[in-house]
Amino acid sequence: MRMTPLSTLSLLTAAIGFSLASTAQAARPPAPDLSNSEFQQCLDRLKNSSKFRGVDSYTFNNYRPTQPDPSVIQSLNYQPEFQKDVWDYLSALVDKERVEDGIRAKRQWADTLRQIESRYGVKAEHVLGVWGVESNFGQTLGKKPLFESLATLSCFDRRQSYFQGEFANALKIVQNGDIAPSDMTGSWAGAFGQTQFMPSTFLELAVDFDGDGRRDLVNNVPDALASTANFLDNRGYRTGEPWGYEVKLPDGYWAASNRKDKKSMSHWRNQGLTLANGSPLPYDLSSAGLLLPAGIEGPAFLVGKNFDTFYSYNASENYALAIAHLSDLITREDSSKTDFITAWPTDDPGISRQQAKDIQQALLDAGYDIGGVDGIIGDNTRTAIQQYQSSRGIFPADGRAGQKFHRLIMGNSASSNAQGGNQYGQPANSKPLTPAPADRMGQLIQQQTTSTPSTPSYASPNQPTSNIRYRRVVGSDGVTRLIRVDEGS
Ligand code: CA
Repeated sequence: MRMTPLSTLSLLTAAIGFSLASTAQAARPPAPDLSNSEFQQCLDRLKNSSKFRGVDSYTFNNYRPTQPDPSVIQSLNYQPEFQKDVWDYLSALVDKERVEDGIRAKRQWADTLRQIESRYGVKAEHVLGVWGVESNFGQTLGKKPLFESLATLSCFDRRQSYFQGEFANALKIVQNGDIAPSDMTGSWAGAFGQTQFMPSTFLELAVDFDGDGRRDLVNNVPDALASTANFLDNRGYRTGEPWGYEVKLPDGYWAASNRKDKKSMSHWRNQGLTLANGSPLPYDLSSAGLLLPAGIEGPAFLVGKNFDTFYSYNASENYALAIAHLSDLITREDSSKTDFITAWPTDDPGISRQQAKDIQQALLDAGYDIGGVDGIIGDNTRTAIQQYQSSRGIFPADGRAGQKFHRLIMGNSASSNAQGGNQYGQPANSKPLTPAPADRMGQLIQQQTTSTPSTPSYASPNQPTSNIRYRRVVGSDGVTRLIRVDEGS
C-alpha cells in the first residue's frame, strides 16, 4: 500500500518491496543538510495545529523525534537512474521462490483464509497475492522508524501537508494501543506492516480479526490478511469473479491498452479474442478492459473490476498484474513455470531474485563493491554491471541484469554459486576478493589496450572496433580522466 496521491514516488521504492534497498545508496544525491532547530520549531507548530487534534500531548511529546532523518528527503526526491522493463519487474516479483512461499503460506493459513473469504468475500489467493508482493509474506516489513520519517517529511520539502496527516495518524495508532511503538517501522514514506498500509488507510480499514482488541498489522497475520481483504472489499471487489485472464488477440487485431474501457465478454468474443490457450472466453467477468503491458506484441490480458482493486493498492498496472499473476500461480499450486503463455517481446527475458543473487555474488567475487547480496538489482548493482559490460566490450553497456547477462557472468564466474552450490547466495567469505577496478575509466583503458579476457556472449556486431587509444591523466583536481590519443600521435 502506498499513498495514492504519491503513487509515483512510492513506486520508486516500494514496488518490489525494494524500499529498503541498500544497493541504491551510492547513486543517490547526497542527503540534504536539515536544520534541527527548524525541525523542532516545525514540530512545535504542528503540535498545536488542527491536523493534530486528537493526538494527546503525552503521545506527541513521547514520540516526537529529536532529530530529522535526511535520508527520507533523499528518497522523496530520488529518481532512478535506470528504467525497468515490465518483464524485469514481473520476473523479480513473480518468481519460483515467491510462488513456493505463497503455496506454503496458503497451507499454513488455510483456516484463517477460509474465514476471511467467508466474511469479506475475497478469494484467499487474491489476499495472498497482495501479501506476497507487498512484504514477501511478512519477510520484508521495512525498518525505518515511522515517526522520524513522517515527522521529517511533515517539515521539509514537498508534500508536507499530506505527510502531516500521516504523521498525526501514526501517532493515533500508537495512542489507541493497536501497535507497539517499537513496531512502528516501515518504508521511508510511512507504509508499514505485513501488507504495508499507510497510517490513514490503517485507521480507515484495518480490522481486529483474531479478536484480541488490537488491530495489529505488524505481528498478527490474521489481522493483516483480514485488513487486506477489507481493503479490497471496500474498493469494490466482486465476490466470485476472477481478476481477469491472459488472452490471445486475433491475427491483425489492433487495440490500445485501456483497462478502464470495460466491455462485456460478448463484446470481446465478437472481436475474436480467446483465452491465451485458444479456449473460448468464459462469461464469469461482468465486464473487462484490455491490458497490453508491452503493447500488441506481448502478453495480452482482459481485466475486470477485481484487477482494479489490486490497482488501488498501489497505482500501477504492472504492480496489479504482479498480484494477479502471483495469485493465479498460487491457485494452481504450480511454481514450475512463472511465465505467461505469450512471451514478452524481448530476446532477453528478466531474471528471478535467485538469479539476481547469483549475479551479485559473481560481481562481488570479481571485486565489485556492490555492498551485499540481496537479490535486488538497485543502482549499485546496475552500475557494477555496466562497468563489467564495459570491461568486456559488451555493447550496449546498459547495466541491465537479464538472462543473457546472467549466463555471461555465471559462465565467467568462479563462484561456487555458478553450480548452484549456495542456494541463498550468501557471500562466499572464504574467497579472497580481488581488488575492485579503480573506476570505470580504468576499465575502458583495459578494454582498449589489452585483449578482452573472454569473448562476450552478446557483443553487438555493430560495436566499433576502432584503434582509438586512451591515456589516463590525473588532473590537478585529483580526478582521473581519460584523454583520447589519436592514432599516430
Ligand atoms: Ca488483533
